[in-house]
Amino acid sequence: MVFDAPDFDNHETILFGSDPETGLRAIIAVHDTALGPACGGCRMWPYASEAEAVRDVLRLSRGMSYKNAMAGLPLGGGKAVVIGDSRKDKTEAMMRAFGRVVEQLGGRYITAEDVGTSVADMQAMGQSTRHVAGLAKGSAASGDPSPFTAYGVFLGLKAAVRHRLGTDSLKGLRVAVQGLGNVGGNLARQLAEAGATLVVSDIHADAVARAVAAYGATTLPPERIHAAEVDVFAPCALGAVLHERSVAELKASVVAGAANNQLATDPVGELLRQRGILYAPDYVINAGGIINVAAEVMHAYDRDAVLRQVERIPATLAEVFRRADADGRPTSEVADRMARERLAAARGGKAAGPLARVAE
Ligand code: NAD
Repeated sequence: MVFDAPDFDNHETILFGSDPETGLRAIIAVHDTALGPACGGCRMWPYASEAEAVRDVLRLSRGMSYKNAMAGLPLGGGKAVVIGDSRKDKTEAMMRAFGRVVEQLGGRYITAEDVGTSVADMQAMGQSTRHVAGLAKGSAASGDPSPFTAYGVFLGLKAAVRHRLGTDSLKGLRVAVQGLGNVGGNLARQLAEAGATLVVSDIHADAVARAVAAYGATTLPPERIHAAEVDVFAPCALGAVLHERSVAELKASVVAGAANNQLATDPVGELLRQRGILYAPDYVINAGGIINVAAEVMHAYDRDAVLRQVERIPATLAEVFRRADADGRPTSEVADRMARERLAAARGGKAAGPLARVAE
């Protein structure tokens, strides 16, 4: 059921952890540690089935290997999922129990925030493991990664617009933002400040109402936002929003957003290319948060240095776009190839990296 799963990609370790007292049911997947200890967030989500949770953690952890490689970080790829509704089921004791599961891996996996977990949860996990980042307190604490993710997505979106639409200005550009959470809300603000016209959607009415009031955004229901009459579609909710049917309905000529695993399956990348839609590969454009987390993991937090590294995301994207154009291949395929090359090179010359001490 795991080794034969379509999303199993020779992940190094998959750890199932439970704690009956707090109701914790968690899965940690360490995909690849060639570049360093695996680092990636912990997602809490009410998965409909265990199989769905396994699928998510397999896909997300591989995405982290690719993301960290493309961002030039000395970190491998890993991710965790906790099965449950973060608004109803989460307790501090459960987060401490999850920290104990992380601790079992002895530093081969370092956790951080993701959908459904917060800085406060990282503090709770930190009571039972050292291998947690995105903390609010401590000498190198980096705090909430979302603003850095949103900043990187904003810059990456501009790079994609420049490449596809030939303009540096976002004035009057129509952008559909799907999901107004930590990243999407922040991105919407930056886009509005740059003069973009927003169409927004969220499953929570309060988040939508705030964006309408603050930015004069118009709204669409969650099931229609991908088909908005816009120039750019920015998926900032959950994954798998781009599939055969939704791609056929897209009006945007650029897809650039924060959500992980936006393509439901790999061949969707080619469908986007055939329709002339420029796709900014998710794990390249949304690396701002992990760049911020990595500075904490390396015990060298410097906000300005983090911002400078986030500002390199557009150049990485431009390289992906250039190669995709030259080869006539989908951007998603080109980015995967570049990431795999970097992982293979690291595996070939694997030496104790700068993070070896973290993994001790
Ligand atoms: P979040 O939970 O704060 O926000 C997600 C928002 O999407 C919520 O407001 C939720 O109500 C909304 N939503 C859920 N389903 C929806 C639907 N069908 N239609 C419209 N809205 C819907 O999460 P976040 O931290 O903002 O992350 C958003 C995405 O970006 C996730 O896929 C996450 O994995 C990815 N990401 C986040 C970070 C980060 O730093 N937070 C970094 C990299 C990638």
